[in-house]
Amino acid sequence: MKSFSFADRGAGRYVVGPVAPFDQKNEMFKRPWWDPSMADLGEKFYHAPVMPRDQAGYRLKDFSLVNAAWRVENEMAQGVRGGRMGLYDWTWEGKFNFPRVPAGLKISDDEACHITGAVKRAATLFGASLAGTCKLDRRWLYKPAYMITPDGGKVTDNPIPDEFQYAVVIAVEMDYRSIQTSPSAPASAATGMGYSKMAFVSGLLAQYIRGLGYRAIPCGNDTACSIPMAIDAGLGEIARNGLLVTPEFGPRVRLAKVLTDLPLRPDRPITFGVWNFCMICKKCAKKCPSRSIMHGDPTEATHNISNREGVRAWHINAETCLAFWAKNGTDCANCIRVCPFNKPSGRVHDLVRWGIYHAPRLNPLFLWGDDQMGYGKRKI
Ligand code: SF4
Ligand code: SF4
Repeated sequence: MKSFSFADRGAGRYVVGPVAPFDQKNEMFKRPWWDPSMADLGEKFYHAPVMPRDQAGYRLKDFSLVNAAWRVENEMAQGVRGGRMGLYDWTWEGKFNFPRVPAGLKISDDEACHITGAVKRAATLFGASLAGTCKLDRRWLYKPAYMITPDGGKVTDNPIPDEFQYAVVIAVEMDYRSIQTSPSAPASAATGMGYSKMAFVSGLLAQYIRGLGYRAIPCGNDTACSIPMAIDAGLGEIARNGLLVTPEFGPRVRLAKVLTDLPLRPDRPITFGVWNFCMICKKCAKKCPSRSIMHGDPTEATHNISNREGVRAWHINAETCLAFWAKNGTDCANCIRVCPFNKPSGRVHDLVRWGIYHAPRLNPLFLWGDDQMGYGKRKI
């Protein structure tokens, strides 16, 4: 009989009470569209002009880089606004454009049982840095969803059919050097590239699954909470900065997912020492310009309605975080830049990662070494 470990509980390992479905209108980027206490912030963040200034990282060439990087997401997907269009379209008329395979074909049941590896390989072919699979835990679906439309925000159903019992979760790496410049427009361009790649990869992956004769819904930040799904799919652990930390890239990733009725073999969730390391490392909290990250122990206490009830973790104050973004004129990635797990792979870095998992008593030494080497400093 299979024995279940702490890791095997997936994102459920952080649940300490009843977890009500999360109403997406309470997510921070949606609140300015309906919450009067967020109206001024929303005006500043979504509508006020951002003027370039004579400062490294904030010149016209920097803002143009951001605008270009976001182009696929903004013009062909709009997952931030709610998805369900362009690359995130939920429907497909079933027609192959090329090659001209007749519509309505389906792989055999036997082939479907062994398709998981091919689906993950397709994800990396299309540009995913990491791909994992999980059973769809419906607690992570937004209920209801919330979309930003040309007329404003609107609450909407999130009708994911019961047969959709699986998901592929993908992570795309963000550029290390660009993130080192945070907070600045070049770091924001790395984020924009992440969002554009999320739409590209998940849109193509959904089309691949549909071509196998199954149904698929590609999503960016819309439709369901990505972080718990990524934990369930074995991509990483939650960290003090409120982000998913992966063994390969730390928190320097963006997440997307494809929900499907194609039966997939779920990956095993993982732990690799992040929780213990975060207990002593507070670099993200110390370097957060808006003091939105907790210095204390994980807790189920929340800051505001943008946090999820019933979860024991380091909750982020998304209100103060977004206020800093609006003031700065671009988003921020300091909590990614300074994280010791953010570093690229290499013999020494991989050895330290191994040590964090297998010899956590040495964590203070690893943290001291990270400081001594000057990692995480802003480079612009
Ligand atoms: S994005 Fe910046 S402001 Fe927001 S929590 Fe991270 S470090 Fe703080
Ligand atoms: S900077 Fe340190 S405390 Fe923050 S998420 Fe990374 S490892 Fe955890």
